[in-house]
Amino acid sequence: MERDFFLYNTLSRRREKFEPLTPGMAGIYVCGPTVYGDAHLGHARPGITYDVLVRLLRHLGYKVRYVRNITDVGHLENDSDEGEDKIEKKARLEQLEPMEIVQHYTIRYHEAMKLLNTLPPSIEPRASGHIPEQISLVSKILEGGYAYISNGSVYFDVERYNQKYPYGILSGRTLENVISNSRELDGADDKRSPFDFALWKKATPEHIMKWDSPWSNGFPGWHLECSAMSAKYLGERFDIHGGGMDLLFPHHECELAQNTAARGEGGVRYWMHNNMITINGQKMGKSLGNFITLEELFTGSHEILERAYSPMAIRFFILQAHYRSTLDFSNEALTAAEKGYKKMVQAAKDVANLNAYGQELSTEIEAVRDGIYDALCDDLNTSVALANLFEAVRVVNLAKDGQFKLSIKDKEMLQFLFKEIMEGVLGLVDEQSGTGNSQVLNEVVDMILEMRREAKAEKNFAKSDAIRNRLTGVGITIKDTKEGTDWSL
Ligand code: ZN
Repeated sequence: MERDFFLYNTLSRRREKFEPLTPGMAGIYVCGPTVYGDAHLGHARPGITYDVLVRLLRHLGYKVRYVRNITDVGHLENDSDEGEDKIEKKARLEQLEPMEIVQHYTIRYHEAMKLLNTLPPSIEPRASGHIPEQISLVSKILEGGYAYISNGSVYFDVERYNQKYPYGILSGRTLENVISNSRELDGADDKRSPFDFALWKKATPEHIMKWDSPWSNGFPGWHLECSAMSAKYLGERFDIHGGGMDLLFPHHECELAQNTAARGEGGVRYWMHNNMITINGQKMGKSLGNFITLEELFTGSHEILERAYSPMAIRFFILQAHYRSTLDFSNEALTAAEKGYKKMVQAAKDVANLNAYGQELSTEIEAVRDGIYDALCDDLNTSVALANLFEAVRVVNLAKDGQFKLSIKDKEMLQFLFKEIMEGVLGLVDEQSGTGNSQVLNEVVDMILEMRREAKAEKNFAKSDAIRNRLTGVGITIKDTKEGTDWSL
């Protein structure tokens, strides 16, 4: 590799040079969604962050194996060991099979991720497809004496583990503060301590997704799948484990403890965590009425949205912040991001038509290139990388106005930066450059919207409403704004 890549390791709490276990190869595991609802704004940030990580490492010359799981079993309500399975609950409410829920929302998740231009993972394992691997991991942990069987369920013995290994090392907790934050046992519990967590749960008769095991007919605990599947596809030791900060505790802490209990070491070299998105300064939550799905964002169909925002505007908005910083969503911030995105894409198009003379690479362009690589290789600083790309935009606009003389080398370098960095690494593509059918569709819808504007201007509201209804009928949503009319499929 010509360039060193540095990343912040949550475990060591330090910025470290990336040194993969196998030179030239990178193994990455990212916790994917529990598929019981539509992908929302909270899914966009890890989706895009780890996509840029994978794209950057490939750009730097690494061969990357990117594993992102689908949780389709074992994730109980409130992320605890009690309550209904999130997917089974949804299935009961919708009167569908759990696997129908899983299939439906997995497809929806893939569609949303594709619109955001994230690359698919190399392997996308499902928890329900890895029951034997999970059972064998539970057996190993039991053999080591770090778990116990209780009424057909198996629990991880946190206190016993903590005698040998530091429980809480990843999230920065001590067993004392884990204990003080755990609720009291209610007596009906099979656990010895409230902070123990389930590796295997005996199923109640009405439970649907269950399998035979040496302990009971039941199902795996939520944290178990990631320990089992990361080892299966990346090895018991692998390079990078990523996920949202909300997964740090208990999910990743328990994963690390399971790995260590079964194999004597945590197995992960670098733990990465992206920060969360807030909405107008508040945490996103169903009870707060600010829970926005990606589809609602793309169509503008949520009461707190002033209009629709395109997937690239959202991608640009997310990349404007460093992945470890908080990011506050607002209509103003997204509108500003959309403006910035359009400016950048326009400059990328304009550069092809500029005249260039001479062979010297100018210092301005060289500084822009170095600034971009330095930023991206410094713990994925997309925020500074974008600021440097805006310098490139400024140079293009100066050259357009005749105020900057581009050399052939300058022009080539600018084209390289827009093509390979903006598009290739940051994944920001030109949404308007649709070819074939999508180009035709854009023009046809614009034409129809023009007819509707004319009808409105003539106060022929029956006609303008009829046009709107016909468009809705074929799946095109339109939304009137101060600037005009937005539409989306
Ligand atoms: Zn996980």
